[in-house]
Amino acid sequence: MSPRPINRSRGAKDRRPQQGRGKSAGNGARPTYTPTASNDRAAVAVAVAAREERSIELPDSIVVKDFADLLKISPVQIIKELMKNGIIANINQQIDRDAASVVASDLGFEVKEPEPAERAAPLEIPSVEEEDPALLQPRPPVVTIMGHVDHGKTSLLDVIRQANVTAQEAGGITQHIGAYQVELHGQKITFLDTPGHEAFTAMRARGAQATDIAVLVVAADDGVMPQTLEAADHAKAANVPIVVAINKIDKGDANPDRVKQQLAEIGLVPEEYGGQTIVVPVSARRKQGIDSLLEMLLLVAEMQEYKANPTRSAAGVVIEAKLDKARGPVATVLVKAGTLKIGDAVVAGGTFGKVKALFDDKGRRLRKAGPSMPAEVLGLGAVPAAGDVWKVVADEKIARSLAGERATELQVETPVSPVTLDDLYKQIQAGQIKELNVIVKTDVQGSVEPIVNSLNRLQAEDVRVRVIHSGTGSITESDVLLASASHAVIIGFNSRLEPGAKHLAEENQVDIRFYEVIYKLVEDVQKALTGLLEPKFEEATEGHAEVRQLFKISKSEAVAGVMVTDGKVTRGSRCRVIRGGGVLYDGKVGSLRRFKEDARDVAAGYECGVQIDGFSDFQVGDILEFYRMERVS
Ligand code: GDP
Repeated sequence: MSPRPINRSRGAKDRRPQQGRGKSAGNGARPTYTPTASNDRAAVAVAVAAREERSIELPDSIVVKDFADLLKISPVQIIKELMKNGIIANINQQIDRDAASVVASDLGFEVKEPEPAERAAPLEIPSVEEEDPALLQPRPPVVTIMGHVDHGKTSLLDVIRQANVTAQEAGGITQHIGAYQVELHGQKITFLDTPGHEAFTAMRARGAQATDIAVLVVAADDGVMPQTLEAADHAKAANVPIVVAINKIDKGDANPDRVKQQLAEIGLVPEEYGGQTIVVPVSARRKQGIDSLLEMLLLVAEMQEYKANPTRSAAGVVIEAKLDKARGPVATVLVKAGTLKIGDAVVAGGTFGKVKALFDDKGRRLRKAGPSMPAEVLGLGAVPAAGDVWKVVADEKIARSLAGERATELQVETPVSPVTLDDLYKQIQAGQIKELNVIVKTDVQGSVEPIVNSLNRLQAEDVRVRVIHSGTGSITESDVLLASASHAVIIGFNSRLEPGAKHLAEENQVDIRFYEVIYKLVEDVQKALTGLLEPKFEEATEGHAEVRQLFKISKSEAVAGVMVTDGKVTRGSRCRVIRGGGVLYDGKVGSLRRFKEDARDVAAGYECGVQIDGFSDFQVGDILEFYRMERVS
């Protein structure tokens, strides 16, 4: 049964008494109190204590009985006060915050607004370092499978999942919700179901890192291929440990030893060669080596000591989300910290809601989901984006305001602050950068090594250059995502930019430079490190106009009445006055007017009045050429 809304008319509000009115005041006058020298300090202490006691915080709604407890007065008095405000409620009824605060004020309590810190708290996953170590518990590792196309990522994900379906679950329908959990020796491992380093880095570029360990799949017959290398670089750039699965060992032409050799060459030296990289031979087809792979993942998890505080309010990452016709917005979330429960108020990216239902990857209803657990959430108001950070807040009101803030933020802001060679020195000076991350793409293999070696040798003050990825071919969307996620710049050496990548780079403000000469490339990066890189400008013609009339304003000022013949003229553009084929003057457009009104720009075919700073000797027939200096990269 829901309570009737309280009468919040002016009358009800205006009856609110002065604070501090007590029963003893009798006729309503304030009690008077004259301090004397002896009881001065004690009085202040009592007054402070009383004020603190009379200051309360209210939740979104509260049961009358609890409200009475909170105010330390009889429920009967609360019910009477509610009646005065036109609301009939019994002792077990819930009243909303508005109603409760009117009654509390009427009774002389000060109602504190919810902590502004909570309202303004950014949408971030709390870091483990900030938690009380006593509350930390081990949590399952979260794994992403990466590798070259056709090396068996999808097959491996399927086999791992099937191998773990117990007899009683086998009849059930496995749900593809974007992530799943398996168990070995009573220990859980979470797998993200979208394989590939692109998904992994796209999520990072949005500011959320979900993965703890990367499994790099290399086909035993095919060996290390370009995307193997790329995936390894993406995992390394994110500081995520790599476990290699050499797949397809069942094949006749499988050559695991050759693969290990190649791995060593790309810096993933296998343990049996004296290196650090765990390598597990597997066959997704024959279901061989799967348990060994899982065991190695648990071993890495044990060494890395992944932990979380399950008792705090939950936060995590959206793995995938969709609009379901029957169920409304459905989001698969990964819990990174805390425990998500039914009824929790959640803000996820630019949307919010109350958790109505939770499901696991086998479609079973859950009451709660702890750290590293993927769960489908029902109850959000809209569909969030994969990679959005979500968190539980005190109530839906706060969720709404945070989601609103977040939505406007998303419209105006890119998730990561871009690094550019032009601004590099400023960022170094401001202490924002300790390392310049670079991605190098070249036309031929032969030029990769000399460029990477020269760049890695560069250093200025305390900043060094780190090539996080290099390769041949054009600059792809994947390169741009990696640059965005890792705050890197991209250098193309005789390399082309793919159209999709160009768009993505503009959107994410990723700095891409093109060179044809190695020494020039290295010189520019060195200059950028030391603040000596001058941005380059190029002239871009905007349009032309012909002078038709003259208006003298004063001795040194004149306005030319012109007809714009092509392009346009913009206030603030630069302008050349051309007479008889020669340039007479070069200056800036001071004012630009149409019909006595200031104009920002005037297009071809229109007449306007132009004034040029420092020039007044126009003649009918002069040609005006308008241009801008544009920064080129
Ligand atoms: P993905 O592109 O990395 O996801 O690769 P898929 O999982 O789609 O596998 C590509 C092809 O390799 C498919 O035809 C699979 O059947 C095959 N494949 C995957 N794993 C194995 C394996 O262990 N042995 C053999 N012989 N073939 C495999």
